[in-house]
Formats: sequence, structure tokens, C-alpha cells
Amino acid sequence: MATLPQDMSHEEIDVDFLRRKYTEERAKRLNPKGNNQYIEVKGDFSRYIDDPYVDGPLVRDAVDETVEALVIGGGFGGLLAAAELHKIGVTDIRIVEKAGDFGGTWYWNRYPGAQCDIESYIYMPLLEETGYIPTEKYAHAAELFAHARRIGEQYGLYSRALFQTQVVDVEWDDASAQWVAKTDQGDTIKARWVLSASGPLNRPKLPGIPGIDQFKGHTFHTSRWDYAYTGGDSRGGMTGLADKRVAIIGTGATAIQCVPYTARDAAHLYVVQRTPSTVDVRGNCPTDMEWAKSLKPGWQRERMDNFNVLVSGQRAPVDLVQDGWTDLFRDMVSSWMPEDPTSVPPEELARLTELADFRKGNNIRARVDAIVTNKEAAEGLKPWYGMMCKRPTFHDTYLQAFNQPNVTLVDTQGRGLDRITENGIVFDGVEYPVDCIIFATGFESGTGYARRAAMEVRGRGGKTMTEHFAKGMRTFHGFFTDGFPNFFMLGLSQNGFKPNVTDMLAEQAEHITALIAAARAEGKTRIEATSEAVEGWVSTIREKSQRVRRFLATCTPGYYGGDGDIDQGLLIDTYADGSIAFSALLKAWRAAGDRAGLEIV
Ligand code: NDP
Repeated sequence: MATLPQDMSHEEIDVDFLRRKYTEERAKRLNPKGNNQYIEVKGDFSRYIDDPYVDGPLVRDAVDETVEALVIGGGFGGLLAAAELHKIGVTDIRIVEKAGDFGGTWYWNRYPGAQCDIESYIYMPLLEETGYIPTEKYAHAAELFAHARRIGEQYGLYSRALFQTQVVDVEWDDASAQWVAKTDQGDTIKARWVLSASGPLNRPKLPGIPGIDQFKGHTFHTSRWDYAYTGGDSRGGMTGLADKRVAIIGTGATAIQCVPYTARDAAHLYVVQRTPSTVDVRGNCPTDMEWAKSLKPGWQRERMDNFNVLVSGQRAPVDLVQDGWTDLFRDMVSSWMPEDPTSVPPEELARLTELADFRKGNNIRARVDAIVTNKEAAEGLKPWYGMMCKRPTFHDTYLQAFNQPNVTLVDTQGRGLDRITENGIVFDGVEYPVDCIIFATGFESGTGYARRAAMEVRGRGGKTMTEHFAKGMRTFHGFFTDGFPNFFMLGLSQNGFKPNVTDMLAEQAEHITALIAAARAEGKTRIEATSEAVEGWVSTIREKSQRVRRFLATCTPGYYGGDGDIDQGLLIDTYADGSIAFSALLKAWRAAGDRAGLEIV
């Protein structure tokens, strides 16, 4: 039977207190509105998604063309899809992207301090193919954006891209076995294959705080940082804030990164917190170029796989990345879990898992005490929930910012603000006058398909995808759905989730394009999932998700769990056995050679 390592079993872990505390803190935050508490960026709020990085509206002639493949989205997902298409010889493609350039997340998110939170040597795709070595272990936004552009250049994708353009409607034409896409610029693009990679974090959301539309000062969302107002750039130097009182609303992964920079430059910063993040050590450092020179071909894939094994809670002979993520999963799982978890009675396994989680939580809370000198602020900054209830964060100057005299934590203890007035923010009846409110309130990642989708897809017989997904996603392996031939979805839905999202997207792009290559070689024109396969896969996803459901039911609300409405959450619709099992399943499926579940004609 497994036991905890000596040091852990001897520690003071007050299980009863922690259980009670986690339950109480969760209860404070449950909101019956779930995702509906958020305001969509449309109508009067649509200005929040205007593109501040382009010179103005697009002026060009509409395009009317037929290509072999249409890629929707020019972030790392779309770029990987295009690069893989290139590798199989599909070069007659069109990429449609609503931003003014490639980059996706890294086009939009230029807020001060933005950087990847997964090591850049594994997060930045196609490093060996492009011959690029990132300058830091965790590269900053400008370098990530430049890398997206590098991929675009290297694969000749700029001449194939329509920027500042959004696909609004895609319709299947059965007679010609191709899709007909319409854009908001009046383009018509016909394509045999459509690869949709519009990303889970592309649509900002706003908090439903009463009076949000009353504020007379300046406001923006972090994904559209307004440097014209703040001055400076993503490295800081925001001289425009020197005489400004600023409120940042939200304390998720984005706020963790932009708070220290804003604290440095603003006259006063109010950080409005509903739930604190877990903030562990980051440990960024410049790249050792001697190390980089020693890397052997295939190093990036090896490093990605090694990381993925470790963050799946499994053991590996080495830890190549050695960072907060791999530490976290070692502490939480692999340092004590027996090789064969079934050798331990389930109740004992649950007890040990809970203890490991509590211990990690205690370390995170002790870190707050060690750094934050103001005791009241320190208490407020301590998270009281399971480590995986929200995306864990890592930062070496966030907590320190609360030691500055010009920074105030407005700890709303799960409630959020009372309201926003013409002049500022109100909590507990106290008004804090501010000049600027910055919404670090995240994205429509855990909301229903209809809220996220900017386009309508009409499959066989005119059935819309909104209708098709009205009761939830229905896919085969996450990529295909019945009635929508040759339409392939990349991203996180009903497939294996990897914390290193670009690794996940690369695997998906390879799998999908391998199928396209096979169909082309055989002279076939349609790839479509059967309804039986889709139903079977949806049942598999539901069945396996019971464990995730039980876990999320203990969690403080967040987008992983649909803000309390678990069925709407991001994680409930993934392959719960994890990415390693999912990759193995895809590999076995390919090896079987019968392409079961798909009709390829
Ligand atoms: P999140 O959804 O993680 O955070 C939103 C924040 O807004 C939460 O703190 C939330 O509080 C708060 N909030 C929502 N409504 C209110 C309200 N009414 N009053 C006060 N606070 C409110 O969004 P982020 O943009 O921070 O991060 C989204 C994801 O993007 C991350 O999880 C990560 O996956 C990714 N990301 C990646 C980065 C990278 O790789 N470098 C950097 C930044 C983000 P509550 O917790 O109580 O709901």
C-alpha cells in the first residue's frame, strides 16, 4: 500500500480545517448565473474588441476564389495547420484572420509583462524548422508575436493570408463537395477542406458589474491594451499612468503578469480581486546559448514529450524543463503515487491525493506570508481551493507589488464589486475614485458554442452548427462531426488536453493533415464522421468525465468548470484519461488502418 513520503506524513496538515475552509470559500463564490454573469462584447460593448494595432479599417477588393484548403485563424493553431498542409504538399490555401497579422493570442495580448507561462523552448512551435532559439526561458509577448510572423514568412503564408477579415458563414455544397465561405469583407472562398483554428481565448468577456456602462473614465480589456492612453509598451514605461489612479479587475493569469508593471508606473493601483490565483516561483532566465548549441536534432519534440509526461503525473528518467509546472505535478502526483495506482484502494488514493494537494496549497500560502508584508493583504492573497481548480500561475514580482505603498488590494472575498459609478469602483459601500479601469476578466473559453462562435457553419442539408451543438459538442475525437464533411476543428474539445497548448495543436494538425494526405493519395474528396462514431465518442467523453465532474464539483468556480455550471466548463468536454492516453488512442486508430468512424469517399 502506498504511503506518503516520511516528511509529508509528519507534516501538520489540518485536514478538517482545510476541508471546511475550502468548502466555505467555494460557497461564497458560487453564482447561480454561471457563465451568464458575464457581459458579451457586442452591441454597446463591441468597442472592447476594436483592434488598436491597425491603422484603420481595411480597404481592399473582395476576393472570389477557389482554393484547396481554407484555414480559419492565424494564431499558432492556424499556422501549424498551414505548415502541416505545406508539408503534405497542399499549398493552394487561404488563411483568414480577423487580426491585422498572424499571432492570435500574441497579436492581441500585448499587455505589459505578457509572456508565455509554459517554457518557450517547448511552447514556441517549429523552433527546429525555423532555426530560432528564444532569448529567455519564458519569452515575452513581442518575441512570441515575432515568432508567429517568422513562421508565416518561412512557410510563405503571408501571400495566402487575408487579415482584418472574419469568416461569417461557411456552407457545404454537396454537389461540388466543397465549402463556400463568406467573409465580412465580401469575399467568397470555395475550399475542399476547412481547418478551423479560431482558438479558445479569442473573445474577451466583461464582468457583469452593475453600472459598468456608467463609468466616465477610460476603460479597456487587457487583450486590447491601450498604449495610446498608458504610454509605453509591453515592457513597461507607461508614463501616461504617472498621474492616474487605475483599477485592474481580475486576478487570473493575465493580471498576475500585468499588475507588477502597472504598479510600477501608475500613481495608484487598485487590484480588484474576487478569487486569488495560486502564484508559485517562475524563475525566468536568459537562454544559455552554449546549451542551445549543444541541442541535437529532434530536441524540441523530445522536450515537449518529456514535459507532457511529467505534467500528466507520470514519471520520467529526467526532467528536461525543471520548472514550476513539473514541480507541481511531482508534488501532487508522481513523487508518491505508486506505478500502478490500482494497487491502492480507491479511498486511500483519494486521501493521499487530497493530502498532497493540501500540502502544495500550504506551500503556496506560506509563500504569500514570506513575501507580502501587509498582513491583511497577505491573508487576502491566499488561495483556498484545490491546485488544479484554476490555471496555476507562476510569477516572481506579482506578490511583491502589494508591498508598494501605491498598490491596494481590494479583496472582495468572492463577491466582486458592488458597482461601478461614473467616477470609480465601489466595494462594501466604499467608493474608490479611479481614472481608468482595466478588465483582466478573461475570455469566453468556458461558455457555450453559440457565444464563442463568430461564424455560422451550415453542413449537409443546411443544418447549422449552432443547432447541431445546441445540446453540447458532438464530435468524433474532437476533430470531426457528422453532417459536416471535410470540416476539421483544432483546439480543445473532446480530445486530450495538454497544458502546453501549442504541442496539443501540433499533434492535432499532424493527425488531420495525415488524413487529408491519405484521402488525396486515394483520389477521395470527402472525409466525414459517421453519426454512430460521433455518438459513441460523446458517450465515451461523458462516461470518462465523471471523475472530472466529481473533482470540479469540489472546486471554486472558474472557467475550467463553467463558473459553477460544470456542463459548460472547459474541462468537462475533454478526454478525461488525459493527453497521453488520447495520443495512444489516435496512434492505435491510425495503425489499425481501417479509419473506423470515418467515411472517406
Ligand atoms: P481568467 O478567466 O483566468 O481570469 C479572470 C479573472 O477575472 C478572475 O480572477 C476572475 O475572478 C475575475 N473576475 C471575473 N468577474 C469578476 C468580477 N465581477 N469582479 C471581480 N473579478 C472578476 O482570465 P485571464 O485572462 O487571466 O487568463 C485566461 C487564460 O489565458 C489563463 O488561464 C491561461 O490559460 C491563459 N493565459 C496564458 C498566459 C500565458 O501563457 N502567458 C498569460 C495569460 C493568460 P474569479 O477567479 O473569482 O472568477
